[in-house]
Amino acid sequence: MEGAVVVTADRAVTGVAGAGVRGATAVLAIEGAIAAVGEPEAVLADPRAAGARRIDWARRAMVPGTVNTHNHSFQSLLRGIGDDLPFLVWRDQALYRYSPRLGAEDMATAALFAFGEMLLHGVTTVCDFYYLNAQGNEHASATIEAARRLGIRIVLARCFYDWDGAPAVYRETIPQAIAGFEALARRYQDRARFLTVVQPAPHSQHGASPAMIEAGAGVARDAGVPWHIHLAEERYQVEQSLARFAARPLHAVARLAVDLSSMIAVHGCWFDETERALLAERGGSLAYCPGSNMFLGDGVTDLVDLVARGVRVGLGTDGGCSNNRVSVFDEMRTAALLQKVHRTDGQAIDAETCFRLGTGAAGEVLRLPIGRIAPGYRCDLVALDLDDPSLWPVQALEKNIVYALSPRAVTNVVVDGTEVVSEGRLVQVPLDEIQTRVAELTRDWRRST
Ligand SMILES: [Zn+2]
Repeated sequence: MEGAVVVTADRAVTGVAGAGVRGATAVLAIEGAIAAVGEPEAVLADPRAAGARRIDWARRAMVPGTVNTHNHSFQSLLRGIGDDLPFLVWRDQALYRYSPRLGAEDMATAALFAFGEMLLHGVTTVCDFYYLNAQGNEHASATIEAARRLGIRIVLARCFYDWDGAPAVYRETIPQAIAGFEALARRYQDRARFLTVVQPAPHSQHGASPAMIEAGAGVARDAGVPWHIHLAEERYQVEQSLARFAARPLHAVARLAVDLSSMIAVHGCWFDETERALLAERGGSLAYCPGSNMFLGDGVTDLVDLVARGVRVGLGTDGGCSNNRVSVFDEMRTAALLQKVHRTDGQAIDAETCFRLGTGAAGEVLRLPIGRIAPGYRCDLVALDLDDPSLWPVQALEKNIVYALSPRAVTNVVVDGTEVVSEGRLVQVPLDEIQTRVAELTRDWRRST
C-alpha cells in the first residue's frame, strides 16, 4: 500500500498498560500512523502491508520514541558558558549577553544542534518553549524549519512575555503576542500528522503580566490547544507571588480568567499540598524537569504525590545549559533517583512509571497521539541495541532501559514512519554541518568569570 511501512524488531516495549515486554514484533504504519501491531507473520500478511517499505531492526528492541515536554533550543549554545554560577550572574552575563545577538540563521543553528542531539538520544517529539520572538515569527519559523529538516516532531510553544526587565528581543505587547501566535499557527499548525504543532506559552509570573497570562490562555482556548507556563521553579518565586498577589503561584494563576485543565505547568518544585490538590482537581498537567531542577539547585517537585493524585505528568530536559543533557531516557532515571533519595525510600517510584512519564503520559500532556506503540498513535519508534551490555540481562529489559541504558545503545529512530536516525547517525542533516555551524557561531563566546 502507498505510504505504508513495516518495522520489525526482536522485542518490543509498547508502553500499552499491562503489555510488558513483547517478543518479535512488527508495526505497520500508513501515512505515519500506526495501523497494526503484532507478530511479524501476521502483520506482514495484512493486505495493507503489501508493497510496504521494510525497516528491519534485528537484534534490537523497539520502544516508543521519547517525548521531551520542555526545552529551550537556543540554550544548547550556552552549554558550559555559565555553569556553576549564581542564577543572576548566569542570567546577566551569559543569557542576556548572548541571546540578544542571535538572528534567524543562528536560531536554526541552535535548533539543529539541540534537536539533532536529541534525536540521537531517542527523542522523537520536542516541545520548544520559545521566548526569543523579537516581536515577530522569523526566529520561531527558523526553529520549526530546522526541526523539519531533521525530521523531529516539534511543538513550538510560542512565548507570551512582557516583563520590561528582560532584553527587548524577549518582549512583546499583548496584541503583538496574540497576532504573532495566530500567524504562526496559521502557517504551521498541522492537524493531520501533528509534525508541527503550535501552542501558546505565557512565560511565568515574573515574565508575563496577569493580562498577558490571560491572553496566552485565551488563544489556547480559541485554538483548542494546551498552554504552558513556568511556575514555582525556585523558592523565591513563591515569596514573590505571595508579595505581589497575596497567593501562592498556582492559586494566583487560578484566580485569573484561565482554564487550568488545559494548562501545562512547568517545574512546580515548590507547589505545596494545596496547589498539588488544586492541580489534580482542575485537571492540569505538569512538565517535570528533574535534571534541570537538580543542576540549578531549584528544589524537588513532589512527583510521587502528583502521580498518586492522577495529575498528567511528562518529563522534560529543559535547556541545554541547565541540565546539561538532552536525553529523556536520562530524565527517566534522574526522576526515579531524585524521588527515591528525597523520600529516602527505594520504592518511592518505579521504572515502569518513569518510562511512561517520558513516553505515553508526556504525549497526553501535549495532547498528541504519541508515546505508545498502538493503533491510532503516530509511528514514532526507537531501536535499542540488545547486544549493548547496558541492557543485559535482557529479561529485565523494562528496568534496564530506565536505570542502566547507555546512549550508545540508541541506534535507530523513526518519526512518523520515516527513519531519521540510522545506525547512530542523523539521516537528513550531516552532523558535520551542525558541528561547523555551532563552532563558528560560538567561536568568541566565553565564560565571563
Ligand atoms: Zn524553561
